[in-house]
Amino acid sequence: MLFQGKFTEDGTAFDNRITRLFGIQYPIIQAGMIWASGWKLASAVSNAGGLGIIGAGSMYPHILKEHIQQYKKASDKPFAVNLPLLYPDIEAHVATIIEERVPIVFTSAGNPKTWTAKLKEHGIIVVHVVSSAKFAKKCEDAGVDAVVAEGFEAGGHNGREETTTLCLIPAVRQAINIPLIAAGGIATGRGMLAVMALGGEGAQVGSRFVCTPEASSHLAFKEAIVAANEGDTILSLKKLTPVRLIKNEFANKVFAAETGGANAEALQELLGRGRAKKGMFEGDMTEGELEIGQVSSIIKDIKPAAEVVAEIWGEFKSAAVNPFGW
Ligand code: NDP
Ligand code: NDP
Repeated sequence: MLFQGKFTEDGTAFDNRITRLFGIQYPIIQAGMIWASGWKLASAVSNAGGLGIIGAGSMYPHILKEHIQQYKKASDKPFAVNLPLLYPDIEAHVATIIEERVPIVFTSAGNPKTWTAKLKEHGIIVVHVVSSAKFAKKCEDAGVDAVVAEGFEAGGHNGREETTTLCLIPAVRQAINIPLIAAGGIATGRGMLAVMALGGEGAQVGSRFVCTPEASSHLAFKEAIVAANEGDTILSLKKLTPVRLIKNEFANKVFAAETGGANAEALQELLGRGRAKKGMFEGDMTEGELEIGQVSSIIKDIKPAAEVVAEIWGEFKSAAVNPFGW
């Protein structure tokens, strides 16, 4: 068998542990991305049959609350909130999530033991994002319901060990028994089929969803992604928190500082505060931080999130049914 799961008899949905866990039609998960994934993107993806995620890492507590409430007006489908555990006001976000009865939380960038038990006490499904098989095992031990394994290709925060999706997914598959979502470098149905063949039970897609009108990022950033070619992103700031960026003047300065041997303190000073917002939300393409995946090189247009979901699903289905039909 090529993958775990099967198409429903009428061919309009997919049935496996991930679609059942979340109550969704297709195993397509939109990544939680700071300054990109507000309620508009999350509700568009969920209404189209995938799982939409509100990225809380760039939201003050009252903004997250507003986004959850707006989401509920726009969709009655399941959704999730992504909570990067490095976030400063995490208790306030957790309180909002519980109060607003958010059904699913994707935690990332931190220890899964810290918040899983508390969230689960409130009946919330917990998924944690990892970049290695070792961390995936730790998640299983912490009692999470599923794991996202994100390879080196991914945008934004990334693993230090640079393990690619092709190497990571089979290793994580061997290490854990709970459901596994693959991430990093997936923007198409064939990409999804590839990671499902490696043992993934769903695909988390980030960069492709930034290039939609529903993503809250600045249009200049979306256009920069569409213009990006092979080799135009770089994993930088490994001495702080590793992050994949589009090469612009800021990223070039970081690269020069890193090759010159700058220490963490000097890099922190160069980074300053609010660079991600400046780039991705306010559209400063020169001095802002532009977090995006390697797969940006094959993204060539900005189109509605529902079209992106339909295209990924359609290509996945036809490639799965007839893998040789290029
Ligand atoms: P809308 O498209 O309705 O409105 C966009 C809002 O963003 C406007 O209120 C605008 O404020 C504000 N805005 C534009 N640029 C900036 C900036 N550089 N810094 C702060 N605010 C800015 O958005 P939504 O209804 O989707 O969003 C509601 C709230 O959520 C807003 O406060 C928005 O800033 C925030 N948001 C936060 C995101 C995040 O990742 N943190 C993502 C998306 C939205 P004005 O009209 O005063 O210019
Ligand atoms: P900085 O410390 O440089 O800046 C903080 C930014 O976050 C500001 O733009 C600020 O908005 C906004 N913000 C939202 N809520 C708060 C809060 N409660 N306290 C302070 N600032 C807040 O951080 P970054 O921009 O690099 O990262 C912001 C967050 O996003 C972090 O939590 C980080 O872990 C997370 N992150 C997640 C990623 C992912 O892949 N999921 C990738 C990168 C970062 P304002 O300017 O309006 O004050």
